[in-house]
Amino acid sequence: MRNEENTKQPIYVTRASLPPFEEYEALIGKLWESHVLTNMGCFHEELRAALAEYLGCGGIELFVNGHMALEMLLQAFELKGEVITTPFTFASTTHAIVRNGLTPVMCDVRESDGTMDAERIEALITERTSAIVPVHVYGNVCDDEAIMRIAKRHGLRVIYDAAHAFGETVTRADGTKTGVGCLGDASMFSFHATKVFNTIEGGAVTWKDGAEQALGTRLYQLKNFGITDKEHVDYVGGNGKMNEFAAAMGLCNLRHVDEWIAARGDVCARYRENLTGLRGVRLMEERGDVESNHAYMPVVFAGGSAVRDAVYEALSAEGIFPRKYFYPCVNAYQCYAGVLDPDQTPTAKRLAASVLTLPLYPELPRADIDRICGVIAENVH
Ligand SMILES: *Cc1c(COP(=O)(O)O)cnc(C)c1O
Repeated sequence: MRNEENTKQPIYVTRASLPPFEEYEALIGKLWESHVLTNMGCFHEELRAALAEYLGCGGIELFVNGHMALEMLLQAFELKGEVITTPFTFASTTHAIVRNGLTPVMCDVRESDGTMDAERIEALITERTSAIVPVHVYGNVCDDEAIMRIAKRHGLRVIYDAAHAFGETVTRADGTKTGVGCLGDASMFSFHATKVFNTIEGGAVTWKDGAEQALGTRLYQLKNFGITDKEHVDYVGGNGKMNEFAAAMGLCNLRHVDEWIAARGDVCARYRENLTGLRGVRLMEERGDVESNHAYMPVVFAGGSAVRDAVYEALSAEGIFPRKYFYPCVNAYQCYAGVLDPDQTPTAKRLAASVLTLPLYPELPRADIDRICGVIAENVH
């Protein structure tokens, strides 16, 4: 005998968004005619143009995934020495810096939204510093104007990890709107299956001015083994190309992404209705001038890791699987032991210990959101 509990499907933190099968089938059918499966084919070029338009960035290059996009972007700027970044992120951000032979210097984050605390950057700058790599974590857009002022004053590059920030826009004091991918010198987006917009695996580098062709050319060469033309190889590049099946998935998903973002917004609103004012639970602050993509639903427990872990266990027992994003902090990873130290970023360490990222995807039923919040309310103290 199966009782009702057992028939419930498990609920994971996310669920990859897919277009109607027929839409994808119709598009990839053309590949059986062309036999061009990769190496910047028509779908690649079509998606590149469509995303430039959607993201509002003149400059864009597509990549096989977000991580390679960031690695090759750091390489393209020929950075040296130290790079100031944040430990409250996914492994990729720091690894991309270290794999470029650069030294990561960890800046602590703001308690309110988990982004880099701009007020702590200048104390970390030395004569070896060449860049700042902040992260719009959970889609919370960094204090970009403060970061840019500091970067200008010290002659540093600003390269954003915008993996979580697809499609977000910032409205300036004068009313002008800027795509988040136009901030700083350049930004990296991830189109991984679990992100708001996916190409199965994929990523992009964007920058404000498409006229700045040098960066585009450099990135194009780097993702294609450093090849300049049939008989010239100018850089030690790698293979970072997005294939045609991935680009076709992106073209289909782009038709639906606005509707998915709106549905995510409804899910987040329901979470907020249930959780706002609940003692011991804090929701992250969002910038009033940012149009959110509702990428994640992080909640912070005032009771710290004991309460966070109790809620995690209670939800797991119900077949609900949130994630402890981002725990541990990158500076607590075994691979950085003796090099980085989580005690140097106490706010990030505390946030990582007390945060839980709740299930969030466009079609998450209201009843499940309410059930999740019920379990939280029972276990928070
Ligand atoms: C997903 C993610 C990446 C890496 O992107 P991939 O497309 O998975 O390679 C980098 N940084 C952050 C913050 C991410 O969440």
